[in-house]
Amino acid sequence: MAHLDQIEGIKRNVELAKFTTFQMGGPADYYYEVKDVLKIPELIEACRKDGLPYVLLGWGSNVIFSDKGFRGLIIHNLARKCELGEVVEQVGQEGENYYRKAGQLVIADSGTLLSQIIQFSLKNSLTGMEKLMGLPGTIGGAVRGNAGAFGLETKHLFEKATIYKEGEGVREVGWDYLDFDYRHSRIKDSHEIVLKVWLRLMPGDTRAGVEEVRKIIASRAGKHPSGKSAGSFFKNPSGNSIGEGLSAGYLNDQCGFKGKHIGGAFISEKHGNFLMNDGNATMLDVLELCLEIQKAVWEKFEVKLQREVALVGEHGYIEDEFAKSK
Ligand SMILES: Cc1cc2nc3c(=O)[nH]c(=O)nc-3n(C[C@H](O)[C@H](O)[C@H](O)COP(=O)(O)OP(=O)(O)OC[C@H]3O[C@@H](n4cnc5c(N)ncnc54)[C@H](O)[C@@H]3O)c2cc1C
Repeated sequence: MAHLDQIEGIKRNVELAKFTTFQMGGPADYYYEVKDVLKIPELIEACRKDGLPYVLLGWGSNVIFSDKGFRGLIIHNLARKCELGEVVEQVGQEGENYYRKAGQLVIADSGTLLSQIIQFSLKNSLTGMEKLMGLPGTIGGAVRGNAGAFGLETKHLFEKATIYKEGEGVREVGWDYLDFDYRHSRIKDSHEIVLKVWLRLMPGDTRAGVEEVRKIIASRAGKHPSGKSAGSFFKNPSGNSIGEGLSAGYLNDQCGFKGKHIGGAFISEKHGNFLMNDGNATMLDVLELCLEIQKAVWEKFEVKLQREVALVGEHGYIEDEFAKSK
C-alpha cells in the first residue's frame, strides 16, 4: 500500500478558501481531486498508514475550514458520473389497500451535484427531485445531512448507496441503515464515506418538472443573504420548552444577534441563522460567535442549539461541545 507522497496527483499546500461557500481556509498540507469514487478508499488507507487525518470535501456548502489550514489530506470529490439504473416496480400495502409504485433508479457518483441529477432526470422524463433545485452541494453531502427543501428530503428519494468505512471496506447499504432524521443520517456520526447513490425517481411530465424548477429557483432567490456563508448555521430545534417548530433564526433574533459581529464573522441582518464571513473571518471568530449564541439562547430559552455546519480545524473536525454538554 502506498504512502501519500507516492500517490500520483497529490498536491501540497493548497489553499482551501476557494473551495467552500464560506470562503475561508488556509492551506491543506495534502490535497487530491478525485474523479473516480473508488480512489477514495486508497487515499484514506494511505492516510491511515501515514498517521494523517483526512476530510472529504464535496461542494463545500456546509463546511468551514480553519484559516490556519489543515495538517492532513483534503479529498475533493469531483466524481460526477450519473446514469440510468433499472426500472423498478414495487407492490406494497397500506392498511387494506395494495398499491403499485413504479419508478426508475438513477445512479450517481457521490460527487455529483444535485442540480446535475435533476437536469439529468428531467432529460430522461423522470421527476420527483425538482424541489431540491437550488440547494447547493453534492448528493454525497445531501445523503450525509439528509438535505432538504420545500418538504422534500433526500431520504424520500434514496434507495441505496455504496459506502466505505475505514478498516471495513466498501459495501452496499439500504434505507434503514442510514437512519435518516432531520438534517441527519448515521453517516454524520460514523464518518463513513458515501461513494455511490441510487435514487428512485418517477416517470413524469418533463415540462411540468421544468416549470416547477423555475418556481423553486424564483422562490429561493432573495430568501438567503448573498455573501460568504455555509447556509443555515444551526439546526432548527425540534420540540422544546418554548414550543414546537421555532426556528434557530427566530431564537437568535430574540437574543439580539442580528448583525452581531465578532472579528470577521457576523450574523446576517437578513437571516438570523446565517453566520457570514466578511472576508476576514478566522476560525476563532466563528467559534466565539457560535458559542455566544448557543449560551444566550440556552439562558433565555433553555434550548441547546446544535451546529448544522461542520467545522474543520487544523487537525480534524471540531466537536460541538456546547450542544453535547449536559
Ligand atoms: C446558500 C446556501 C443555501 C443552502 N440551502 C440549504 C437548504 O435549503 N437545505 C439544506 O438541507 N441545506 C442547505 N444548505 C446546506 C448545504 O447545501 C447542504 O448541507 C449540502 O447537502 C452540503 O453538500 P456539500 O457537497 O456542499 O457538502 P460539503 O460542504 O462539501 O461537506 C459537508 C460535510 O459532509 C461531508 N461529506 C461530503 N460528501 C460526503 C460523502 N460523499 N460521504 C460522506 N460525507 C460527505 C463532508 O466531509 C463534510 O463533513 C445551503 C447552503 C448554502 C451555502
